[in-house]
Amino acid sequence: MANKSKFQAIRGTRDLLPPETALWNHVEETAHAVFDTFGFSEIRPPIFEPTELLARAVGGETDIVSKEMYTFEDRAGGLPDPGEMSPDGFLNEIKRAMNSGQLANDAAVIAQLEFQLENYNLRSDSERARLIWLYFVRGLRLGDSISLRPEATASVCRAYIEHNMQQLPQPVKLYYMGPMFRRERPQKGRYRQFYQIGAEVLGGGDAPAIDAEVIEMVMTFFDRVRLSGIELDINSIGHNAPNCRPAYVEKLKAALEKAKDKLGADSQRRIETNPLRVLDSKLEHEQPIIATLPRIADHLCAECAAHYAAVKRQLELRGVFFKENWRLVRGLDYYMRTTFEITAKGLGSQNAVCGGGRYDGLVELLGGPATNGIGFAIGEDRLILSLQESGKGAAPQGRDVYIAWMGERAYATAIRAAKNLRNAGFSVELPPTESKFGKALERADKLGSRYALILGDNEVSEGSWTLKTLADGTQQKFTEPELLEFLKA
Ligand code: AMP
Repeated sequence: MANKSKFQAIRGTRDLLPPETALWNHVEETAHAVFDTFGFSEIRPPIFEPTELLARAVGGETDIVSKEMYTFEDRAGGLPDPGEMSPDGFLNEIKRAMNSGQLANDAAVIAQLEFQLENYNLRSDSERARLIWLYFVRGLRLGDSISLRPEATASVCRAYIEHNMQQLPQPVKLYYMGPMFRRERPQKGRYRQFYQIGAEVLGGGDAPAIDAEVIEMVMTFFDRVRLSGIELDINSIGHNAPNCRPAYVEKLKAALEKAKDKLGADSQRRIETNPLRVLDSKLEHEQPIIATLPRIADHLCAECAAHYAAVKRQLELRGVFFKENWRLVRGLDYYMRTTFEITAKGLGSQNAVCGGGRYDGLVELLGGPATNGIGFAIGEDRLILSLQESGKGAAPQGRDVYIAWMGERAYATAIRAAKNLRNAGFSVELPPTESKFGKALERADKLGSRYALILGDNEVSEGSWTLKTLADGTQQKFTEPELLEFLKA
């Protein structure tokens, strides 16, 4: 059992430790390398953003925004401390800050403060009045609302607009990696701080080849990290115009109404709020009903149907295997046409390792020019879990060379040897204090070193160093240049 210490990582967060971090680094380096070969460049947006941006991009009604975001107030600096002045003095300071632009002008804030003061008689000198006033004032929102990002597409689109990237050659192809934050119920493969590796293609039209290339890139990456047993599901959800998705949603709603009695409470509610989401249901007893529902592929407008057919043809051209899954949907209006999801083995119920799709309306929704967009996000935690489950986890990392030294003169030589070996790219353990050769060799073994370099006063004066291969215990003698040659070979 873990040591019961005073501090523990917050629920839903965890330390990534060696040797596992080596696997994380390998996965990330592979992403950099593969995405680069597809002409994508890295973007590193901040991890917090205006709450309003995330609410708009992810959707104010979604669980992510309504329940799962870590949101806090970014209180403007230099505001007075309400504990150090009278209520009226504080009120005047707030008004002054609003007039000078230090705080956003917000009449509702002033009205609330005045209301509290009058109605609860908080100007009195009593301790009780003072405490109520402070409690109220400290809970007041006096700054901008910001949130830890639950995903990064919103940030990438914001950056595209903010930095006028529509003036660059289109499309702009960007990728990112880093932590995301959602207050979900933690379980295997689901954390409150988790990591995504994602990419977005912005601008440059909606040619089906763009969709196909993005998917080809993720699959190439998975192949390169040797993620096995994955399945790619694709679908088209049409677009938000009367002759396309909305007409389908109406038909779906009608069919769901007819079967309403046989559906669970969640699905019943969704008939009104978001009928497409009923298709996500995993409830056993709803499956036979869902199987009879109308399918969107039969109701796409001519353009969306042609686009979908072309994406599939393009995937075949690229040798990418896929399965059509008519139940793969997204709940937000600006998602359109191509959606895809990749699932992996060994993950139990949280088996989605990547989700993606086209979102042509998003940049405009965020105040930018009309811009095509498509992207995906890979769940890195789950990718790593799946690699580990299939036996591709990282081996503990040893050292190449452990320098067992004894004596003042030997130490000076050991320092120089360590420097030269490290410059040549070898990992070297140079113990900070002297110890007997027996003890040193024991430690070298425990650290998983391949070789021990034995440097005592004799070796140094003879200029002939002893290298012990720890696996079989054999020893060889080398001069310094010979040693480097030998190790490099
Ligand atoms: P989404 O942004 O919800 O489409 O998620 C994209 C991918 O991120 C999913 O397929 C998961 O692999 C991963 N993911 C989403 N939420 C979590 C979480 N709470 N913990 C771990 N991975 C997650």
